Amino acid sequence: MAVCEILSVGTEILLGDILNTNSRYLSVELAKIGISVLRHTTVGDNAERLAAALTTALERSDIVIATGGLGPTADDITREVCCEVMGFGIVLDREIAEGIRKFFEGRGLPMPENNLRQAYVPVGGTVFRNNNGTAPGIGLKKNGKCVVILPGPPYEMAPMYHESVVPYLTEYSDGIIVSKTVRTMCIGESAMAEKVADLLEGENPTVAPYAKKGEALLRVTAKAQTEAEALALLEPVIVDIRERLGDVVYGIDSESIEQRVVELLKEKKMTLATAESCTAGYIPKRITDIAGASQVFGYGAITYSNDVKEKVLGVKHETLVAYGAVSEQTAREMAAGIRRVSGADIGISVTGIAGPGSDGTNKPVGLCYIALDAPDEQICEKIETGRNDREYNRYVNASRALNLVRRYLEKKGG
Ligand code: ATP
Ligand code: MG
Repeated sequence: MAVCEILSVGTEILLGDILNTNSRYLSVELAKIGISVLRHTTVGDNAERLAAALTTALERSDIVIATGGLGPTADDITREVCCEVMGFGIVLDREIAEGIRKFFEGRGLPMPENNLRQAYVPVGGTVFRNNNGTAPGIGLKKNGKCVVILPGPPYEMAPMYHESVVPYLTEYSDGIIVSKTVRTMCIGESAMAEKVADLLEGENPTVAPYAKKGEALLRVTAKAQTEAEALALLEPVIVDIRERLGDVVYGIDSESIEQRVVELLKEKKMTLATAESCTAGYIPKRITDIAGASQVFGYGAITYSNDVKEKVLGVKHETLVAYGAVSEQTAREMAAGIRRVSGADIGISVTGIAGPGSDGTNKPVGLCYIALDAPDEQICEKIETGRNDREYNRYVNASRALNLVRRYLEKKGG
């Protein structure tokens, strides 16, 4: 299998000003075409250190992909340094120079002369068109080694990778690797792993569990010569996993819980309204991230204080006094209240203690009640995350509330 090293160039990465998302992106994508990324290296905008890093990388890898420092300013040195280390001369390419001029003309901007530096190309190298910016990418192949240079901005780098680099690397690509992720909620990672223990021993596809923000996931990965063959290996295993795990599975791959909820509401022609205390707007935010959410969602109330829980939702004063704001009784009355005032088919509510401090009662941080109120069903669930992490608790409680809606809708016929 071909070995690749990713060389990120940019002082801003070393300083921690930006996160190196290019390396992460490329690692994920290269694995899909069967190229192993064994090292990530980062250097600043310094010619000497870049030359040294590239020289070392070429000693241990077949392919080096460099990103960043391809632009027009004085600190953008990647093109020159890489060509020199690989022994390629550079010349001005008139066509690219013209393209850069037109790029500025099209935007009604004067072109700084410096930009012409980007029109220098290696003699005998390959030039990758940049459809989203001015600096073209570069490919250099010599003595079995390959260096690819891509622009730093992710929105230029990623399309160039797919349009030009994947075909450029065909000779190094060893079959294709396809992964799918089964997403679950309301089951722990180890409980999930136990149910699929024998599958975790498999070699092709491989099955690997991991946890992410209140969810347990299973990544199923197959390797084959073509994508269709890889998918054919994956599908039966995914069907098997779904059967074994049952209704804790809410989606496959990047399908989010909010996406699934909006889809189901549309399918069942039902509407949803939310009443939130501790999550204070998380659920409507996530629902309305999905295009077309307005068909199924129109009313979300943030009822943070007890007073508003009474006034807006009609939660009984006695309930709040007797059981407190964070209680099953309050959650149920909040869900019923929001359904009544909004006229929606389903009301959901969240009330909990996100932390870091407790709410003055002896209830633990991370305790939360979520309730659903529908004409044919009233459900309330108690959640104890056991974590003193405000952001985590809020996110997970919102996810669990959405999941409650998902499970209600999936069970519902018609
Ligand atoms: P430009 O033409 O914009 O100068 P460039 O190819 O010279 O592009 P850099 O100057 O190194 O690239 O970086 C430009 C911007 O691209 C950075 O400010 C940052 O926003 C983004 N960027 C660069 N490298 C990375 C990386 N490894 N991960 C994520 N973003 C990056
Ligand atoms: Mg730059």
